[in-house]
Amino acid sequence: MADQGMKSVQRSNFTDTFQLFYKHQQLTKQTIIDELALSRPTATANLQKLIDRNLIIEAGQSSNEGRGRKAIAYSLNPTAFVALGAELFSDHVTLVAVGANEKTLYHTTFKLPFANKTSYYLAVTSAIQSFTKQHHLNAKQIIGLGLGLQGLVSADGTEVIYGKILNFTGLTTEIFAQYLPYPVTFFHDADAVAIAEQHLSQQKEDAIYLSIGEHLGTAMMVGGQIYHGSNGRSGTMEHISIDPEHGRLCYCGRRGCIETYVSGSALLHGRTDTITEFFEHLHDQDQAVQLRWQSYLDHTAHAINNLHMFADSPIILAGEVARYMDQATITALHERLTKLSAFPEPKPYLQLGQAGQHPVAVGAALPLLEAHIAHI
Ligand SMILES: [Zn+2]
Repeated sequence: MADQGMKSVQRSNFTDTFQLFYKHQQLTKQTIIDELALSRPTATANLQKLIDRNLIIEAGQSSNEGRGRKAIAYSLNPTAFVALGAELFSDHVTLVAVGANEKTLYHTTFKLPFANKTSYYLAVTSAIQSFTKQHHLNAKQIIGLGLGLQGLVSADGTEVIYGKILNFTGLTTEIFAQYLPYPVTFFHDADAVAIAEQHLSQQKEDAIYLSIGEHLGTAMMVGGQIYHGSNGRSGTMEHISIDPEHGRLCYCGRRGCIETYVSGSALLHGRTDTITEFFEHLHDQDQAVQLRWQSYLDHTAHAINNLHMFADSPIILAGEVARYMDQATITALHERLTKLSAFPEPKPYLQLGQAGQHPVAVGAALPLLEAHIAHI
């Protein structure tokens, strides 16, 4: 028993040492000793074990050690293990590799029209394998692939339970996993964006994420977890209808859904320009685009106000379209929200997300990494 107790303490020391690297860019042996109150021999043994397992690497010398000679600094080895993340769109695919340090190492976007056919899944998985080969990532390093999808997925992340945008309801991870030598997990795209945002957030407080991409999605983060509800259908405010009689037709088959007013597609509203072009024209003071933008802000403010009436938590605008928004957008929405609110608001609750490029793909990779890190 005493032996087992000792092993457990050693294991805990080792795990704590590894986890400390997620709080600091670089560490010296002395910092580890100080922060974890370890003896020098224990810290030395743990460092050696981390080096032997290729989990950390030498990262030059530290200048913060005060007097005397400089100490060796260590950092996480970004390619010790890697999670892949991808998002499937109607006409293209984005793909990222997120390293052990939880930073995006590589990313790519390629054209590939979606089709719910074997030939498509074969093409996607071939492209993923070419991507990993190009970046010298082998199957042993890759812990899995997270796929962010425009649809609701089962609680275990293995099946699409509602996928009307790409018409792939019933799709399972099996079709990808048969071509790839690592596990595949599905994520609802809005959930993935919320995960990517929460990862960057300092507060980690409960929040609602309004994910505005080609389509709209909502995700609620409660106690650090996505709130899925009884059947995984929480956060589908995009299909709350505000004009079921005369509203615009939604892909769900009904009319007047918030999706048809607040999504990226709604912003373009059948025009041929892209989101990037839209915002370029907006900044060029194009009159027609200005009008479209004001109308979009009006609708978006109504949607946000409804969401706020339902749940009193910070609301974060996130997703690909939100990346083009700035503080002026938040101010314009605040002005509208102040007029719409049923009661006085003591402080602003609307914020802009911080996630960079490809938040869905990154957010689909991060949970795989976190699960892996927790078991080291
Ligand atoms: Zn709808």
